[in-house]
Amino acid sequence: MQFVEVKGRKVPALGFGTYGLDGDEAERMVRTALDIGYRHIDTARSYGNEAAVGRALRRSGVARDEIFLTTKVWHDSLAYEAVLSSVEASLRDLDTDRVDLLLVHWPNRAVPLAATLHAFEDLRDEGKVGAIGVSNFPVALLREAVEEIGADLLCDQVEYHPLLSQTPVLGYLRRHGMMLTAYSPLAQGRVANNPVLAEVGHRHGKSPAQAALRWLLDQPGVAAIPKSGSERRARENFEVFDFTLTDRDRREIDRLQGDGRLVNPGWAPDWDAS
Ligand code: NDP
Repeated sequence: MQFVEVKGRKVPALGFGTYGLDGDEAERMVRTALDIGYRHIDTARSYGNEAAVGRALRRSGVARDEIFLTTKVWHDSLAYEAVLSSVEASLRDLDTDRVDLLLVHWPNRAVPLAATLHAFEDLRDEGKVGAIGVSNFPVALLREAVEEIGADLLCDQVEYHPLLSQTPVLGYLRRHGMMLTAYSPLAQGRVANNPVLAEVGHRHGKSPAQAALRWLLDQPGVAAIPKSGSERRARENFEVFDFTLTDRDRREIDRLQGDGRLVNPGWAPDWDAS
């Protein structure tokens, strides 16, 4: 396993995403992921699968402190008291006394960001949360959180894959010693049909998805959290530590970078130009 070293912590660079996995399937796949060797699990209050993820963690036999566990607070629960209630419910369902990382899932302009982050900091001070961060924050909101409010954030979790450039956010995070966690790192499966990624992968005996993940994980300060409901693909996504991209491979993948954003709900903020 490769780690991202960020603010004195070591975060497993490759995590397992759980959006869309429910009930028994979520439990089975998180256990499978832990058996394969994943040690970083990404869930969220809104995914409705925290109880299943909690069962998987408990039944896996892997020590809790070997696993980096992230959950998120939904954008309707960002007022101070609502954050505390959301996290209590998450900890109860996950059957754990702390998560390693708590994220603001999406920004919500109707709630002062300072109040949300104050609640996050109080939870961190109480030890219920190891570190705090945000998700889906463009640079303007990162600036507000970090420079105006003074929050000590570990990361911004944003959509990032070979078809979507994140140059401004990545630049900001690097300047402030923070991590970028790439969600939808396989472009929700679309990387599998990309001829350039197929060709790059082929040169190394690897799949297009493996080429995409290697390209992400080669970038300093970047973690990635692919999801799969299949043991075969979860294993394939984990087998990315035994090959190296050449400069030529990287240049070819860099040229795919564009505005291939897939996750853009009505409540999304104004994104940075990509
Ligand atoms: P991904 O980019 O991880 O793609 C998942 C899709 O790709 C699934 O359809 C999966 O199918 C398929 N797939 C998985 N592995 C392979 C492979 N090796 N080859 C081909 N296809 C493959 O998308 P997600 O949107 O799920 O993002 C990953 C995680 O990021 C989420 O699960 C969630 O934890 C997080 N996330 C966070 C968001 C946020 O707002 N903070 C928003 C979106 C995601 P199959 O399951 O059949 O293998």
